[in-house]
Amino acid sequence: MSDCLFCKIIAGQIPAKKVYEDDLCYAFEDINPQAPTHVLIVPKKHVVGLKEALPEDAAILGHLQLTAARIGRERKIENSYRTVFNVGPGSGQSVFHLHLHLLGGRKLSWPPG
Ligand code: 5GP
Ligand code: ZN
Repeated sequence: MSDCLFCKIIAGQIPAKKVYEDDLCYAFEDINPQAPTHVLIVPKKHVVGLKEALPEDAAILGHLQLTAARIGRERKIENSYRTVFNVGPGSGQSVFHLHLHLLGGRKLSWPPG
């Protein structure tokens, strides 16, 4: 999608610190990290958000989670991380290209705010 921030990051039109990439997804450091590890994992396909995802996107959704687990393993933060989809503006979703937050490397409180 031409006017989408994350599509532009995936296309290399806006710089970002890339963490991982494969055929389905692109992962990069959040510009405003909320934890020592704060990586955004986004599908290369432009999906607006979780509630807009279709049954055919199920494999992509699973792949984002497994990619988060892989990065968590690589960073040795497996004792303390969380994966989050913010859904809708009331939850804090501000970019309308689906993205999974991987937050970790510090103690995480529960429930989240
Ligand atoms: P949301 O609030 O939609 O769940 O998450 C959007 C995330 O994107 C935020 O954590 C925000 O810091 C991050 N973000 C916004 N603009 C940019 C950018 O230009 N580059 C990077 N790397 N992250 C961004
Ligand atoms: Zn997009």
